[in-house]
Amino acid sequence: MTKPIVFCDFDGTITNSDNIIAVMKRFAPPEWEAIKDDILAQRCSVQEGVGRLFSLLPSSLKEEIIHFLLQTARIRDGFREFVAFLKERDIPLYIVSGGIDFFVYPLLDGLVGKDRIFCNGSDFSGETIRITWPHSCDEHCQNGCGCCKPSLLRKLAPQDATKIVIGDSITDLAVARLADHVIARDFLLEKCQELRLPHTPFTTFYDVVAFFERIGVKA
Ligand SMILES: [Mg+2]
Ligand SMILES: [Zn+2]
Repeated sequence: MTKPIVFCDFDGTITNSDNIIAVMKRFAPPEWEAIKDDILAQRCSVQEGVGRLFSLLPSSLKEEIIHFLLQTARIRDGFREFVAFLKERDIPLYIVSGGIDFFVYPLLDGLVGKDRIFCNGSDFSGETIRITWPHSCDEHCQNGCGCCKPSLLRKLAPQDATKIVIGDSITDLAVARLADHVIARDFLLEKCQELRLPHTPFTTFYDVVAFFERIGVKA
């Protein structure tokens, strides 16, 4: 096996649940539900939908939202140990997230450096929150991902690396198809089974460490 490179989702993978949903439930007016339904039914792109969702929130809520998530979001068990495990073995870990910088960075503070985190950006200079898209789709993707995980893999992974993708949802499926191996839970796990993608299920990051021990990556 060539040297592994790891691409790991954030919401519902590193955290136990989805932070955008949690923020909308707590802070958004009721219209947010229809936008969420449009995204899930693919009546609009993730990029368009997430942009519309955050435009429902006044910029002045920034600190309150961060505080709320720091109080309520839970990092999945074993993540800190997993980060240390990869670091000892010099295996690169990239966080690829459809989340937004202003909450992803604080939740990962002390765990993963900003230079390894690829997510959407935010602008609080207007009346309502505006999402920016520093990692939108390259010429090979027309999905309007917002943060385009397949594009990031194409950009960041050396051709001959063993590409490992960790995730949980529909937004990880396109990048999972490009992976050599997928570590999956929830909806992504069902899809991996259905599409017969090479995969391993996980519940905690101790399971993910056990996977790397099984494939025998050396320090
Ligand atoms: Mg996710
Ligand atoms: Zn894309």
